[in-house]
Amino acid sequence: MDSEPARETSLLLGVNDVDPVFEQNAGGRSPFLFTSDHFGRQIPKPLGDLGLPEGELVRHIAWDIGIAGVAERLSRLLDAHLIAQCYSRLVIDCNRPPHVASSIPLLSEATTIPGNEGLSRTDAEMRRREIFDPYHRHIDAVIDQRLHNKRPTILVSLHSFTPVYAGVARPWHIGTLYHRDRTLPPLLLSALRAEGDLVVGDNEPYAVGDETDYTIPVHGEARGLINTGIEIRQDLIADEIAQQRWADRLARILGAIGETLGPKR
Ligand SMILES: [Zn+2]
Repeated sequence: MDSEPARETSLLLGVNDVDPVFEQNAGGRSPFLFTSDHFGRQIPKPLGDLGLPEGELVRHIAWDIGIAGVAERLSRLLDAHLIAQCYSRLVIDCNRPPHVASSIPLLSEATTIPGNEGLSRTDAEMRRREIFDPYHRHIDAVIDQRLHNKRPTILVSLHSFTPVYAGVARPWHIGTLYHRDRTLPPLLLSALRAEGDLVVGDNEPYAVGDETDYTIPVHGEARGLINTGIEIRQDLIADEIAQQRWADRLARILGAIGETLGPKR
C-alpha cells in the first residue's frame, strides 16, 4: 500500500480541514462492514463554497441527508465497523470511478457548480489524492485485514435519496442496490417486503453499475464479498427519532440475515 501524503505536504487539506475518513467501532465483531460514501458535506477550506450559496450546500446534491445518523446508530446496534467519508460529493464523489465525468460534477440535478468549472488535471488529481484515495485505501486495508484474519465480512453501502428528483416524486421508502451479488439482495428484499408497511425498491431508485458506482463494484464484487447497497428516502430520516427508528429496524433485519448467512459467508 502506498503511503498517504503527509498533511504537511498537502496541497488541499490544511490543519483546519477534517480527515476525509470517519470511522466508528473499528473493533466491532459483526460480520457487517458498513460504508457511507456521502456521509458528510465538508468542503476543503481552499475551495471556499465552490461558488454555491449555503442553501445549495445543505441539499441532497451535496451529501446523503440523514444517512449519517442512521449509519452511526446502526453500527452501534450491530457492533459493526463503519467507514465513512466526510467531504461533499460536490468536491469529489467517492462512489464514482474517478475517470467518469460525474466524479467532480459540473452539474448536479439543475445546479451548476462554479467551483468545478475549468478544473485543471492537477486540481482534480489533488482532490482524488487527498479525499478519494485515503477513503478507499482505508476500506481496502480493513477488508485485507478481515480476510487475513478469516473474519466473515458482508459489505453494506449506506445511502439516502431525495424524495423528489428533477420534479419526479419517488414512491419507495427504501431500496436495495446491487449488481452481481445474488445472495444478500434477495434476502434483504424479502425481509423488507415482509415488514408490510414499506414500499421497497428493487434496484430503485438506482441500480449499481461499474460506471456509476465505485464502492460496491470495487470493494464488494471484486473482493468476492457478499454485498448490497441500501438507499433510504431522505424525508423518512430527517430527524434523530426517525433515524433511530430506521436504525432499529435495519439492525433487526440485518441481524437476522447475518444469522441466516452464518454458514455461507
Ligand atoms: Zn449516496
